[in-house]
Amino acid sequence: MSEQSAPSVPSAPSEHQLHVLNPATEELVATVPAATAQDVDAAVVRATKAQAAWAALAPGDRARLLRRFAAAVDGHLEELARLEVREAGHTLGNARWEAGNVRDLLDYAAGGVERLTGRQIPVPGGLDVTILEPLGVVGVIAPWNFPMPIAAWGTAPALAAGNAVVLKPAETTPLTALRLAELALEAGLPEGLFQVLPGHGPVAGNALVEHPGVAKIVFTGSTAVGKQVLVKGSALLKRVTLELGGKSPNIVFADADVEAAAAAAPMAFLDNSGQDCCARTRILVQRSAYDRFVGLLAPAIESVVVGDPSDELTQMGPLISRAQLERVRSYVPADTPGIRGKAPEGPGFWFPPTVLTDVEPHARVAVEEVFGPVAVVLPFEDEADAIRLANATDYGLSGSIWTRDVGRALRVSQAVRAGNLSVNSHSSVRYWTPFGGFKQSGIGRELGPDALTAFTETKNVFISTEGPAQ
Ligand code: NAD
Repeated sequence: MSEQSAPSVPSAPSEHQLHVLNPATEELVATVPAATAQDVDAAVVRATKAQAAWAALAPGDRARLLRRFAAAVDGHLEELARLEVREAGHTLGNARWEAGNVRDLLDYAAGGVERLTGRQIPVPGGLDVTILEPLGVVGVIAPWNFPMPIAAWGTAPALAAGNAVVLKPAETTPLTALRLAELALEAGLPEGLFQVLPGHGPVAGNALVEHPGVAKIVFTGSTAVGKQVLVKGSALLKRVTLELGGKSPNIVFADADVEAAAAAAPMAFLDNSGQDCCARTRILVQRSAYDRFVGLLAPAIESVVVGDPSDELTQMGPLISRAQLERVRSYVPADTPGIRGKAPEGPGFWFPPTVLTDVEPHARVAVEEVFGPVAVVLPFEDEADAIRLANATDYGLSGSIWTRDVGRALRVSQAVRAGNLSVNSHSSVRYWTPFGGFKQSGIGRELGPDALTAFTETKNVFISTEGPAQ
């Protein structure tokens, strides 16, 4: 990787190289070689060798090495966070949280190594036990929106369960992943156990998916690519976990604390500039509270601080790339009526916080994932109408329910078809609770108490007490 200090205009990205741009300035941050299918092949060979030795280590020793990796991340939090600000345009506060999340994921997974127990099942004539064995080599394909945490969601539990990992970060954000791999080696993880291969999705990503030596693919990204990964992976009966898109509702009932709901609504979709699969971009408000809510929302949106992500006070930074900016613009023609915040002029991939109030419930912007700082507000009549609207997308990842009625909170939580719901809050992701999508938001679950088990095969062994046949 070659780091650049002075601004320069990059030549077009080639099949051999990745150009990492600072999304806030469009300056070239680094040029990174792009892995080929042959590079993936060689990495899988190294990983296979390393995995056999890793799985043979005593559980306590594997756990200790993972804790050392966590400590190495902890010792470089600020460096990792600043690198994430430069390559992804994340606000400094978010980037610090993200680096800390990697540390916590590693520590949590390390705590599971000695607890990865099978079962003993009563049978006649002997003893029956189950053993949770590692899968082998796991391929993790990560997106650019949360480069560090999402890489670690797959990597930490996979390593803890005795697997090796080959991680392919997104084209635009390889730098923090590469640094994490260096820190793993410095912490004492064996060579080849955790490898990072930056590269193009259809080349390096696809090579991982099609490689017979890779037992499982953990994919996070768009629903369109996720479907291809599932089809190609199933040709080899590969284990595949998919964390895909979302179009999550934020349901506000008239009996809620409407002031609190309106105050929380902006950052529930503007965090990470809306490039968050859990972003609450469909704000559904009961009609009797609609005008009051929108009246409170408008000044809250207009006062969001958008700008230099390395400034401690900034709440929202730029989008990741020009392509993403064009995509977001395609959903919001310039003359669309709505509430708009501010965004810097000049270089950088800026789009202002935007709320559209005059939109049909099935308009593209109301049902498709924009992956930018754009939300719609739609009125609903009653509880049944709210549930119908909340479920009227192909996605089912997250959602929030604002009400003071406990019974209603429970009824609506049960009725909304999504994997991660919160009541009077917008929290979705904790490393110790399960996360994943219904419908076209994905397959499988990550994080939480079962995270390690998802990287194992269950083997059943029966031991006869009858003695060998005479
Ligand atoms: P993307 O699907 O284009 O890319 C994701 C990753 O897949 C990248 O590393 C990319 O290089 C790789 N890839 C691309 N084509 C591939 C192929 N043919 N074979 C193998 N790998 C390939 O998505 P993106 O634009 O990077 O990320 C944004 C999308 O990800 C959004 O739709 C968002 O909702 C989704 N996302 C979902 C979650 C979740 O947890 N559910 C989290 C983050 C992002």
